[in-house]
Amino acid sequence: MTWNLFDRLLPSETDQTICIEKESGATLTYGELAALSGRFAGFLANKGIGPNHRVAAKVEKSVEAVALYLATLRAGAVYLPLNTAYTPAETEYFVRDAQPTLIVCDPKEEADLRAIAAKAGGHVETLDHQGKGSLVDAAAVYSADFNTVPRAKDDLAAILYTSGTTGRSKGAMLTHGNLVSNALTLVAQWRYSHRDILIHALPIYHIHGLFVACNVTFAARARILFMQKFDADRILPAMARSTVLMGVPTFYVRLLQSENLNDQTTGNMRLFVAGSAPLLAETHLAWKQRTGHEILERYGMTETGMIASNPYEGPRIPGSVGRALPAVEVRITDLETGVELPSDEVGMIEVKGPNVFAGYWKMPDKTAAEFRTDGFFITGDLGKLDTRGYLHIVGRGKDLIITGGFNVYPKEIETEIDAIPGVSESAVVGVPHADFGEGVTAAVVRASGSSVDERAILDALSVRLAKFKQPKRIIFVDALPRNAMGKVQKALLRERFGDLYSAKVD
Ligand code: AMP
Repeated sequence: MTWNLFDRLLPSETDQTICIEKESGATLTYGELAALSGRFAGFLANKGIGPNHRVAAKVEKSVEAVALYLATLRAGAVYLPLNTAYTPAETEYFVRDAQPTLIVCDPKEEADLRAIAAKAGGHVETLDHQGKGSLVDAAAVYSADFNTVPRAKDDLAAILYTSGTTGRSKGAMLTHGNLVSNALTLVAQWRYSHRDILIHALPIYHIHGLFVACNVTFAARARILFMQKFDADRILPAMARSTVLMGVPTFYVRLLQSENLNDQTTGNMRLFVAGSAPLLAETHLAWKQRTGHEILERYGMTETGMIASNPYEGPRIPGSVGRALPAVEVRITDLETGVELPSDEVGMIEVKGPNVFAGYWKMPDKTAAEFRTDGFFITGDLGKLDTRGYLHIVGRGKDLIITGGFNVYPKEIETEIDAIPGVSESAVVGVPHADFGEGVTAAVVRASGSSVDERAILDALSVRLAKFKQPKRIIFVDALPRNAMGKVQKALLRERFGDLYSAKVD
């Protein structure tokens, strides 16, 4: 039995059900997507690309880019999506590290990629945001019928580089088994069916937009409304004929700013999913108040796919990412001893299951260091399991602040600050401090029209938090630095505030 994701999720190649609808209104059926991926796969195979060869794609979002992903899997090769925002220097690192046989890039970057390929090896083709380019031209002569190469469960399907906020970016190796199991689990968990229409406004170089959004939709034979990027003015009207939205928390915060968001404009929708970064309980509640819908928050990461999800039926708890998915085991361990902790105690989140990746590309030592001997992967996220088995994330391990020997979890401080009138949002980081090792420091965005000041925030916190947890400084910023997936870039804040306490000891 083959585990090739294409055979598992998109088996009937001539299906005339609509699979993708573009913003122009043009549609592509499952059969047409299969045919396009077949031509691309034919081209790849003709270039000698097969099992274990890497195909890198640094391309804008397009239906043809989705077909390239499927074609790579069909040829038995390994798909390597690259964030379109990477600079040539960053791209060169990934190409040298992964040594793709083929690099598909936007025509605007062709010269850069050719220069990189000249040094690192690899053939270059182009594909633009409209789905045009040398790849499409070259593939046109190949047959739409391609015999998908059988793959085993543990064979590699994709390598996705982690964001690399600590040290070198690592290539997470994901297998066909990982992707197939995660997609089928989510179809069942989220009650996905062929009647669903998904609003897809996420990038497709990341697991959220590629594996969660596309694979789950394919597996259910549902339809994708394919949007180039997030645009509240386009998403809101699209809700009238859609059923599901998958987004990062920023999507929901921005949609809430629209006066047109209400129970009527969202009346046809059955599911709003949030993930990739923490959804504030406040956003969850505001969304419920405005639309009557409870956002379903889930938790996952590049290395593991989806780990936990709030239930489709049953309580969705604001501030929690829900229970471990079926067949996925989650445990919390002591940061120093690695011993499993009881309910409600904060520690390292560890995970084991068919979703967990095969290791980091060419980094056996790093891989070994992040797995326990009993197969659990050490996620690097800190959290606790409550007595009902719901997981609560308190932040990344590397964001833990140790001040005067005490552990401070940024999320606890951020939650308190966010509750202060006049505050829109905050991010708390540890900054080098001569006396305390690290000084708790908060970046705060004021609510519009608010003039709340440092003193008012510190006074409010002084009655809510132990002294060691109280920020030493509050720095007001216009906006928190976020990446394309809506994650707050705490490393940038630590860098920016690096000198704050160097001349001052308080
Ligand atoms: P990535 O590998 O880019 O998908 O990032 C994974 C990381 O995003 C996780 O390790 C978490 O730190 C964070 N993350 C993902 N989903 C959530 C969530 N629902 N709440 C809080 N953090 C999340």
